[in-house]
Amino acid sequence: MPYAKVDDRILHELIEIAGAANVITDPETLENYAHDETPLYKAMPEAVVRPDTTDQVARIMLLAHENNIPVTPRGGGTCLSAGAVPIHGGIVLSLERMNKIVEIDEDNMMVTTQPGIVTEQLGKELAKHGLFFPPDPVSLDSCTIGGNIAECAGGPRAMKYGVTRNYVTGITAVLADGTVLKMGGKLLKNATGYDLINLITGSEGTLAIVTEATIRVLPLPKVIVDLLVPFACVEEATDFAVEVMQTGLMPASIEFMEGDVVHMVSKYLARQIPYMDANAHTIVEIDGDDKKTVRKTYDRIGEIALKHGALDILVAEGTRDKERMWEPRKKVGDTLKELTKNVAREDLVVPKKQIPQLISRLKECVGKYDATVYTFGHLGDGNIHADVSIDKTRNMDAAHIDRMRREIYEITLSLGGAITAEHGVGLSKIPYLAMALDEKQIALMKKIKQAFDPKNVLNPGKVLPVGKADKAIPPHSSAGR
Ligand SMILES: Cc1cc2nc3c(=O)[nH]c(=O)nc-3n(C[C@H](O)[C@H](O)[C@H](O)COP(=O)(O)OP(=O)(O)OC[C@H]3O[C@@H](n4cnc5c(N)ncnc54)[C@H](O)[C@@H]3O)c2cc1C
Repeated sequence: MPYAKVDDRILHELIEIAGAANVITDPETLENYAHDETPLYKAMPEAVVRPDTTDQVARIMLLAHENNIPVTPRGGGTCLSAGAVPIHGGIVLSLERMNKIVEIDEDNMMVTTQPGIVTEQLGKELAKHGLFFPPDPVSLDSCTIGGNIAECAGGPRAMKYGVTRNYVTGITAVLADGTVLKMGGKLLKNATGYDLINLITGSEGTLAIVTEATIRVLPLPKVIVDLLVPFACVEEATDFAVEVMQTGLMPASIEFMEGDVVHMVSKYLARQIPYMDANAHTIVEIDGDDKKTVRKTYDRIGEIALKHGALDILVAEGTRDKERMWEPRKKVGDTLKELTKNVAREDLVVPKKQIPQLISRLKECVGKYDATVYTFGHLGDGNIHADVSIDKTRNMDAAHIDRMRREIYEITLSLGGAITAEHGVGLSKIPYLAMALDEKQIALMKKIKQAFDPKNVLNPGKVLPVGKADKAIPPHSSAGR
């Protein structure tokens, strides 16, 4: 059965639930909810609704379920796999107004929060209590905790602290038919039945809408020092990262930008970056409780870096110096969006030692398509972002992009990797899912989706080609952005 349209009756009911000011239908504003940060994907919703309680979310889902209307949950809209794009139209359910912290429990080191709070804002509030939530997606000034949970977001610190999944201990979730489930709590251990919290975390808004979460937090490190360590080549940088991990020194992050990226960012920021001629820049962050231990750790890391050919080790201890050191890495996304014509933003992961091979093979592959690949990302955990761009005067048709992406994934999988580490499958990777997972795994995942959402109204067309969505996803269908 095809999905129903959002007609006047449905709009009237949405207004009853969330108030007229929170039901949007004017095309100009709807446009803002038609895309996320994934290049090439765009689809207009018929309405956007902005509830502010779990009860309102439940009533919206019940209405959508009874009337067979697709609903796409949305946080900050920074997704890089088109997960927040309402491919079937219908309702975008924006959690932006549900942005309050419910409780910071210092004794149990837990925070309970609504999902729409921006990740950086949560961090600032926690810091007032000497606490922090370790996952730190580079988009943290605009993504939300709900989106982080839905995507199981990572970030630079994932190599030491893990990803969002490692911190979520309780969830209030609204299912596709409006049922509200409260699961878990302030518990560090819980073996009661199947782990539904873990299943919903990373389910990309396809199994449930998270309307409240309880999250484990850690004491804020008292001392943080950053090092900029440039190398002549990616091999040296990788060997350095591998040995650092072998010694058990455990920095909070080892980030990476290849030389071409450094040049682009320097142009974008209109400032010189040290060692522009180096082919691999790494930024190492070391955190701890006292200066002496941190200094000992970075001295040892410095020795390892020099052994592997580091061109220098620049140390940033003050806030301003640290921000200046990180600025180029944090601005890579904006730089490439502004200065290049992006046709794919990949999120590959391989065993760390294979990174040089991955990068050189990617360059060879993408070169065949007359495109350029810019690599950067989280060297410390093997997660390399590869943004593919073409000359601004050119176009690349969908079939070409598809062939190129297929080759990129073949290379990654042949090196023992995965096609996404932290950005999810969303819409953009569905055509390639069968390259990465075997049939039986996909069949089992489809059964899970069916159990949660038999009518396929919750973020349909994402993660899995289920039911109606099977035919509905021409890759790169809209080349508007
Ligand atoms: C410049 C840049 C840098 C980035 N760096 C990183 C990084 O370092 N690490 C990383 O992991 N990611 C990174 N990302 C990707 C993105 O920021 C993350 O996936 C983030 O977690 C998305 O959060 P959001 O609030 O923007 O979610 P949205 O983009 O709004 O939505 C993402 C998905 O979650 C679903 N969703 C949103 N809220 C809810 C909810 N409350 N309940 C259920 N489903 C929901 C949506 O339906 C969608 O499928 C980056 C993106 C950009 C643009």
